[in-house]
Amino acid sequence: MIAGPGLLFVVSGPSGAGKDTLVEALRARMPRLRYSVSATTRASRPGEREGEHYFFVGRDEFERRRTEGGFLEWKEYNGELYGTPRDFVGKTLAEGYDLVMKPEVNGALATKSAFPDAVLIFLVPDRFTHLRDRLLARRTETNEEIAGRLEIAHQEMRSIRNFDYIVINEQGRPEQAVRDLHAILQAERFRIHRYTDDSLENVEHS
Ligand code: 5GP
Repeated sequence: MIAGPGLLFVVSGPSGAGKDTLVEALRARMPRLRYSVSATTRASRPGEREGEHYFFVGRDEFERRRTEGGFLEWKEYNGELYGTPRDFVGKTLAEGYDLVMKPEVNGALATKSAFPDAVLIFLVPDRFTHLRDRLLARRTETNEEIAGRLEIAHQEMRSIRNFDYIVINEQGRPEQAVRDLHAILQAERFRIHRYTDDSLENVEHS
């Protein structure tokens, strides 16, 4: 059986839900899974590396790429620009690799419009107040930035019905959420419509 192109997985949800940590753990479990590195205008945080966590670019550079159609989707989030480079996504999927990305919620919905086959996963904390706790604990944003992120989070929660799956990142049990994500990725591979017409015909006529 030959599967078609790779699958596009979009892990989204509010800031502080745990996207970064869980996607990193998922990638450790699934070495063939590729990751789409976004471009952003925000300053790098301590420990973040160029080309690994983000491509850090100036506003002019971002806007030039955006005008040239270089982003599959892009959004302004809390005053900074974030975008998914288009070419890498197309090339990786065409090569047959599964790909994961983790944009904010509007970017996830825009991705679904561009790639209707994309699998949208909404990551939520078991209690909304945990978002604030996590943002405070990681000490990477000012109080003002955290307030902005929480306000956006309230709006983001209202888009949940447009997603395919929900994963709850229970406080203190991240390994369960990683297992749930893994299960979703595995199951999606077995869907009939993921297989090429030729390979299904072979089965039909066997
Ligand atoms: P952070 O500044 O915490 O790294 O990211 C802020 C928000 O932007 C997060 O919700 C993150 O998921 C989102 N984000 C990161 N990359 C992209 C992207 O390429 N596109 C969109 N739409 N959102 C992104």
